[in-house]
Amino acid sequence: MNIKVVSRILEANDRLAEDNRKIFRDSNVYVINLMSAPGAGKTTLLERTVSGLSGKKKIGVIEGDIATDSDAQRIAALGVPVVQINTGGACHLDANMIREALSGLPLKDMELLFIENVGNLVCPAEFDIGENEKVMILSVTEGDDKPLKYPLMFERASALVINKIDLLPFVDASVQKIREDSLRLNPGMRIFEASAKTGSGLQPWFEWLNQKGK
Ligand code: MG
Ligand code: ZN
Repeated sequence: MNIKVVSRILEANDRLAEDNRKIFRDSNVYVINLMSAPGAGKTTLLERTVSGLSGKKKIGVIEGDIATDSDAQRIAALGVPVVQINTGGACHLDANMIREALSGLPLKDMELLFIENVGNLVCPAEFDIGENEKVMILSVTEGDDKPLKYPLMFERASALVINKIDLLPFVDASVQKIREDSLRLNPGMRIFEASAKTGSGLQPWFEWLNQKGK
């Protein structure tokens, strides 16, 4: 019985996600669903990305958090349109939440929309929100066992940013293991190694994004 209820929720979500996808397509907005554990550096990477693509792409952001608007304030400080979704406890974003947030964004004046999902390595990957692509961030401080422990995220994301590489001297994680395990789960995955904090390694990421929606 429970399984039936869950599958019906996912079916309803998929229909709403298709509606969102049509809205994005009609507005010529390319959408990236950014997923990671809490603290992996999603918002810091977005801050760098807004600066890195300045003058190249018109960017908008939807921030998803259980509570607070602190991430939206960080993005708003950069002068790009942003809407904060507070899920009030839900550990992922769903298509209906995105639909509600769209009225607060100037879609016609945007080319690239980043949706920062709630920090969580499990269910954000299960919910289609109408995005073009899912992108993951894994920071080296989380350990190199995460691809094999949370395979769905790594299977569904088209790209992976291995973040906080400036901290590699202080942690046991092997970037090579993260790469190998991720590519075994998802052979087509594009992988970047970067530090969103220092800005190093981000140029290939900017160039990859700059091709999106063209
Ligand atoms: Mg954040
Ligand atoms: Zn969830």
